Amino acid sequence: MRFENIGDKRAVILRRGQIALFHDERGWRLPQCPGVIETEDEIFHPAEGTVAISTQCDAPEGTEYVGLRESWRLLGREEYLLAAKGAELLNWASVTRFCSGCGSRLRRNTEISLVCPSCGREYFPQLSPAVVVLVTKGEEALLVHATNFKRPFHALVAGFVETGETLEECVAREVREETTLEIEDIRYFGSQSWPFPHQLMLGFTARWKEGEVRFADGELTSGGFFSRDALPELPTPPSLSRAIIDAWIEGKL
Ligand SMILES: [Zn+2]
Repeated sequence: MRFENIGDKRAVILRRGQIALFHDERGWRLPQCPGVIETEDEIFHPAEGTVAISTQCDAPEGTEYVGLRESWRLLGREEYLLAAKGAELLNWASVTRFCSGCGSRLRRNTEISLVCPSCGREYFPQLSPAVVVLVTKGEEALLVHATNFKRPFHALVAGFVETGETLEECVAREVREETTLEIEDIRYFGSQSWPFPHQLMLGFTARWKEGEVRFADGELTSGGFFSRDALPELPTPPSLSRAIIDAWIEGKL
């Protein structure tokens, strides 16, 4: 246990996946934390004037712990991005404690990296790129429910990029593996940092080429092509999946 004085910086204070937020008549914000904060773990700096701290302590006075995903709805965009980056750094550091080369305990190096004090090897946050794709067939779009979804919504085919493949190959492979469909005209839509815990989501659109939807690999439990006037329950914002679906619904693709 040690004590750190973080002055009057904005603080991303993380405890078991939740962040401490301050609330008054002007709304929800990251807390300014004058004085002393009790903390056990490393401190990172997701941006100038902002610290990120992992702690086991109660929320500082005047704040309360809120789920990181929930904070997207409460905070402005700039503060949500700081909170997400801070939480991602802290989650990464919590599972990156020892040098994989020599086994020494790592210590913080720059604002966003760790270093081994024995052999000098540097460690930077790991990202896991993953794709989501909206496949259209005429006026309908492919929406699916995956086994690991916690609620009954339907979203886009998704999956992690594998070693040695391009993003487009990943998109085509995931659609083929999960539905047996073949697609064409794969186009980039946009990307999103997804700090749950360390993904970079890359969004695509594509057109159905051939095949019938069959759930081949057990990852999906239901789904198919839906028209705009008969949509199932959809994922909630701020997911990239929802942003692509909304763009399709609004005819903006
Ligand atoms: Zn080392």
